[in-house]
Amino acid sequence: MSGSATPLMQQYREIKARHQDAILFFRMGDFYEMFYEDAEVASRAIGLTLTSRNNGGAAEVPLAGIPVKAAAEYLRRLVGQGHRVAICEQVEDPKVAKGIVKREVVETITPGAVFADDLLDGARANYVCAVAMGRDTARDGARDQIGVAAADLSTGELRLFVVTAADAPAVLARLAPRELLLVRNASWPEVDAAVQVVDNALVTEREGWEFDAQLAGDELTRQFDVRSLEGFGLGTDDSAAIGAAGALLRYLRELQPGGLPHLARPIVERPGGIMPLDEMTRRNLELVESLRGGEVAGTLLSVLDRTTTPMGQRLLRSWLLAPLLEREAIERRLDAVTVLVRDAVGRTALRDALDGVRDVERLASKAAAGRATPREVRALGDSLARLPQVAKAVSDVLAHASQGGAHGGELRAMLHDWDDGADCAARLTHMLVARPPLMIGDEDTIAPGVDAELDELRALRDGGRDAIATIQQQERARTGISSLKVGYNKVFGYFLEISNANRHLVPDDYQRRQTLTGAERYVTPALKEYEEKVLSAADRIETRERELFEALRRDAGAAIARWQLVARRVATIDVLASFADVAEREQYVRPELHDGYDLDIVAGRHPVVERMMAREKFIPNDLLLTDDAQLIVLTGPNMAGKSTILRQVGLIQLLAQVGGYVPARRARLPIVDRLFTRVGASDNLVRGQSTFMVEMSETSAILHTATRRSLVLLDEIGRGTSTYDGVSIAWSVSEHLHDAIGCKTVFATHYHELTQLENELGGVKNFTVAVREVGDQVLFLHTLIPGGADRSYGIEVGRLAGLPPAVITRAKEVLALLEGEGEQMAARLTADGMQAPVSTKRRGPRMKHQLQSDQLGFFGEAPSAPADEAATRLKAAVSALDTDSMTPLEALTTLAALKQGASSS
Ligand code: ADP
Repeated sequence: MSGSATPLMQQYREIKARHQDAILFFRMGDFYEMFYEDAEVASRAIGLTLTSRNNGGAAEVPLAGIPVKAAAEYLRRLVGQGHRVAICEQVEDPKVAKGIVKREVVETITPGAVFADDLLDGARANYVCAVAMGRDTARDGARDQIGVAAADLSTGELRLFVVTAADAPAVLARLAPRELLLVRNASWPEVDAAVQVVDNALVTEREGWEFDAQLAGDELTRQFDVRSLEGFGLGTDDSAAIGAAGALLRYLRELQPGGLPHLARPIVERPGGIMPLDEMTRRNLELVESLRGGEVAGTLLSVLDRTTTPMGQRLLRSWLLAPLLEREAIERRLDAVTVLVRDAVGRTALRDALDGVRDVERLASKAAAGRATPREVRALGDSLARLPQVAKAVSDVLAHASQGGAHGGELRAMLHDWDDGADCAARLTHMLVARPPLMIGDEDTIAPGVDAELDELRALRDGGRDAIATIQQQERARTGISSLKVGYNKVFGYFLEISNANRHLVPDDYQRRQTLTGAERYVTPALKEYEEKVLSAADRIETRERELFEALRRDAGAAIARWQLVARRVATIDVLASFADVAEREQYVRPELHDGYDLDIVAGRHPVVERMMAREKFIPNDLLLTDDAQLIVLTGPNMAGKSTILRQVGLIQLLAQVGGYVPARRARLPIVDRLFTRVGASDNLVRGQSTFMVEMSETSAILHTATRRSLVLLDEIGRGTSTYDGVSIAWSVSEHLHDAIGCKTVFATHYHELTQLENELGGVKNFTVAVREVGDQVLFLHTLIPGGADRSYGIEVGRLAGLPPAVITRAKEVLALLEGEGEQMAARLTADGMQAPVSTKRRGPRMKHQLQSDQLGFFGEAPSAPADEAATRLKAAVSALDTDSMTPLEALTTLAALKQGASSS
């Protein structure tokens, strides 16, 4: 550091040293200045002009400045790009400062820790998540527990998750944090794997000790002023989550040195009640983000979102990512939706009541943090004031439902101990004017008649203004200047303005204050006297208003826990009403849930695809998965609608477990423990892995996690490699799903070979999507029918997509050639054909050309093995036998097969 630095730069450096990883906005008068690297980074990121400043004789210092007034926009852009920005303010009045003005960082803004509306998306929570592992994990393999602490500063929400390493990715994917707080240099592969699923999050690292559970426990008890953590439902086994929460609190306090008065008590969530949704399933089903571009348009969320409040919007999003596993909890939601569906009048009244409710959650949180503007506090009051109407509408719906014998489930639960803070609402709306300004000052914030002192001061001020207005009349009469007028500006106060033409008429007692091009401005002792009265009254008004407003805001903020609770309930009511509204508009039905195995959908539709066309254009389809038909092999040409059906089943099942009605005529559904979708055309190239590798690791994840109670939807497996490889993998994956797991599976594929599985495995059924060939063309009927397809019609699709006619014609020729070759090859194989030597287990698939010859049992077998190889193969077959697990009968048949194999070679 240069010894010759000015005191200002010394101060800057001291502060910067403590905020090295942030861009420092250093307040100097009406500007925030950035120096050195910060200036360079910011100028690159948001195109600021770089200048330089002479650092007391030493080298030039790069510098970039932004006006404080425009800071919000620059902040939005910097933070939006993933930067963190520390705001350093002048914390004493420059006029009274001795020497250099004292400065302090009052707040650090990061993508995961923001308050400002323009940095937030109203439709989704803005989490920063800390992730840690249990301490003794390494020693105790059974406890591979991961703790996640998630905070949304904008709502004051704090959630702790205690999850297994296997479920952690799903939880993180669901939270989709903007920022991750991780242990520096931790060797926790499980955590590394889990955070992989989070896209575009800023990563912040802290030392391991900050995640220490003991320390964290103290931190938590202090923050929430409790004796022990038991009250939160946290025990000694939850060290990972406690550690994460402690580190998170410490970090947030670092960002908000003013404290975190608005943070709600932590809510602890444990897996069990919620179905973990892995990233590929969430993405492939396009629940809240479209595969292309990640927008909301074209997603399940976009179809279901008829919410009227931002809280409802956020809750709907989080519900869609967290289907329930307990039947009772699901039925409670469904019961609520049912009474709302049946009572259209009541529902409309409810939605009307909800309509004026603003973002109570975020407004309350801002109030508690002392950041809400007068206008926002009023909005909180107005919103709270509407809540009795919401409660009334809900109880009307329930009363109506009771007549029909319905209970109302979750909706009824919402009214239990309902507290809408009518007292507080009344106070807020009484004390504040109807439309208060953004800040205390020129316009009134506190309503008249609320505070005697304020009313008195205002009378004084207004009296003074009236008096000044009278002066204008008097002076016009006295001087005979009819254009004389009284004006006001911040620098000179009140003045009398007289145009140059009338200058000769100015009386002697006028004192000149300011000269303009066409006029002069004067004051008189009388004017000054009133001005003094008016201005001092205005000053005192402002002080008094501020006092009153801040007290009001403090009181409103102090009740944050009440507002968070009621906001949560309003959100729930809003989502349930939205479900009901969509159900009626789109003709959804209530799913019938049961504890058995079967999944039976009659006339099911894809909720998103059906909206993209005229209603009657979408062809509904039935689908039945039972013990006898647990795995459906779905073949059919391109563009027939295979993927649509596949996703449709997944969406219907998911929607049912979220507690919503479903797009079908009837749906009898089990409760599945996991839902998996894997879709061939993976776009995971972003992650830098080969597509086939991704495909295989996704498949492997399914095979390792699925149980008999899972629903697995596969759209093409094995497409990323050669056909033979691909079929082999698809085949063995199907066998495994069928034999070892027994889950319900729909497998859409182009490998027609897989249709042979129907003959091999008891629980496999073939279905295809019907097409009609009209002359040279293909008509897609989009109807599911039993049976398999034997063609892909890829060339037809190519034609539809506009491939040049010459290319189409040539492709047809090549296809004919290849098919012919296949037949020749098959003929050759049959001629040289050899018997399958051993039938150890089952037969594998036969490729198309092999279908002509039933003689070849083994797929992948060398087609014409020389005789001397037969012995080797026989030897291999014998040594591969698992004699320990064979029944005597099996042993005998195997022996017979071996004998036959040996004698025929
Ligand atoms: P595949 O997976 O067989 O190639 P898709 O499922 O992608 O086919 O469907 C192709 C297109 O066909 C869809 O984009 C949609 O427009 C239309 N489609 C699919 N299913 C239906 C249906 N049941 N009714 C009407 N149109 C459908």
